[in-house]
Amino acid sequence: MSDFQIPCPKCGRNTGVKLEDVAKQRTVSCPAGHLFELVDDGGGAKDVVDLLKKFGR
Ligand SMILES: [Zn+2]
Repeated sequence: MSDFQIPCPKCGRNTGVKLEDVAKQRTVSCPAGHLFELVDDGGGAKDVVDLLKKFGR
């Protein structure tokens, strides 16, 4: 299950990522196999993950 789709910077294919992946700035692979690093701009994703954990999700 993915929280949202982001386009691969190399080929533009939609790649499903989880909010936590972004928060931890993990490296993910698109459907074509390109690896790229997620960037949490301004730490927004991390804040949301922290908030969800606080509510026990
Ligand atoms: Zn790609």
